[in-house]
Amino acid sequence: MDKDIQKILITEEEIKKRVRELAEDISKEYKEMFPHLVCILKGATVFLTDLIREMNIYLSLDYLGISSYGASTKSSGIIKITKDLDHSIEDRNVLIVEDIVDTGLTLTYLREILSARKPLSLKACALLNKKIRRKIEVPVEYYGFEIPDEFVVGYGLDFNEKYRNLPYISVLKPEIYMYEVMKYEKK
Ligand code: 5GP
Repeated sequence: MDKDIQKILITEEEIKKRVRELAEDISKEYKEMFPHLVCILKGATVFLTDLIREMNIYLSLDYLGISSYGASTKSSGIIKITKDLDHSIEDRNVLIVEDIVDTGLTLTYLREILSARKPLSLKACALLNKKIRRKIEVPVEYYGFEIPDEFVVGYGLDFNEKYRNLPYISVLKPEIYMYEVMKYEKK
């Protein structure tokens, strides 16, 4: 699988260190608040599982399934809920856990639908932030790394469902995208 990688943008060690720092900051803020973490499927799962194991406070979890990307590497802006939350978030201190904020469209939509469910507070934590690609201003209270305008995979992030299990954040060789898109178009 690593033969498809052009370059590593963020190493496993860098991620580990930054996730620990984020966990400390979040734990400090939410210490007495019993936060409810909403993990956005599937990209944020790897980040979430590492993050919560560095947090020594009471918290609860839920999962929200959405899909915003087709076979292409550019955001369509079309968001579909594929799995709703199992629990009510009313009067809870909710923290959305996302893999990456790119155009900002997904997080804007998520903040809208979740705030309509009347949480006590609502904030967001993303591992990656591609500020340069924003189409809409949206608050991201916590984030791990700001990255350039490149399509990345690994540590939960996929391309056509592959590469989520890479332990680092990386950029694929351009021919991999072309090959996958060609395969998709033939279907
Ligand atoms: P946005 O709505 O902010 O443009 O995009 C958010 C979603 O698009 C993310 O949750 C993620 O699923 C996907 N996305 C955006 N940029 C990337 C990227 O560089 N790599 C991957 N694998 N997914 C991305």
